[in-house]
Amino acid sequence: MKIITDERCTGYSRPGHPERPARIRGSIDYLREQKDLPIQWEEPISVDETVLERAHTKVHVSRVKAASADFDGDTPAYADIYDHAIRSVGGALHALKLARAGESAFSLLRPPGHHAMQARAMGFCYLNSIAISVFEALASGTGNVAVFDFDVHHGNGTEAILEDHPHTSFFSIHQHPCYPGTGTENVGNNCFNYPLPPETPRAKYRDTIRKALEDLARLKPDLIAVSAGFDAYARDPIAQETLEAEDFLWIGKSIRDLGIPFYSILEGGYSSHLPELVFSYLKGVTGV
Ligand SMILES: [Zn+2]
Repeated sequence: MKIITDERCTGYSRPGHPERPARIRGSIDYLREQKDLPIQWEEPISVDETVLERAHTKVHVSRVKAASADFDGDTPAYADIYDHAIRSVGGALHALKLARAGESAFSLLRPPGHHAMQARAMGFCYLNSIAISVFEALASGTGNVAVFDFDVHHGNGTEAILEDHPHTSFFSIHQHPCYPGTGTENVGNNCFNYPLPPETPRAKYRDTIRKALEDLARLKPDLIAVSAGFDAYARDPIAQETLEAEDFLWIGKSIRDLGIPFYSILEGGYSSHLPELVFSYLKGVTGV
């Protein structure tokens, strides 16, 4: 298993904000200490700015670079947020590269990205790492790429960026009603949404994920880009779903069992148990 991280991503925070450095610091410590899963640690690759413009407007990229006023209440203008966001993009691009080389890869970085729109930062997200990596995959020879997003929030940014884009598809399982309020129905010819009410029983949540993965497999993508969020966990502080650590193991295994190359990047997950949830997922991904 290759995990891509960079401890500089713990270098920004705001008191009381759920998207906090301990998410990554705790996960790195936990994964270093465990003995079940052999891990090779990697760093994000450097990113040519032109790849950002496949998913975002130039104006948006400049705005993130020069951020001085908060984008919204959830999405502060941290000092150097552009450098942090672009390292998250570099993590996704490295994970893509590794997946293509037949490796299991997980990008463990912050900030997350799946709410970032073409021209707007929102929901703790500044640059849409997963969408940028999908476009890079297409530009460098992959035929069809599917995004599988199991974060408890709808990946509205990824959907908006990929909507009707040839050779891409987007599958999102999420709580509704919940932030950002979208994802109630399918959109365009390639975006498929599986909204579930708060407090959905685990068995039903799993059934819905199983159904989404079957729908995804039917499109026969060459590659799957996974937006891995761990906030559908029963004790997550900002959502109301019911999954347990073993469900994330099952999700990882279910994706692996499709037999299609894939890579995963961290999106949300705000409980103090995040390290164990990531570990469970990675066990499923690697079949340990
Ligand atoms: Zn989320």
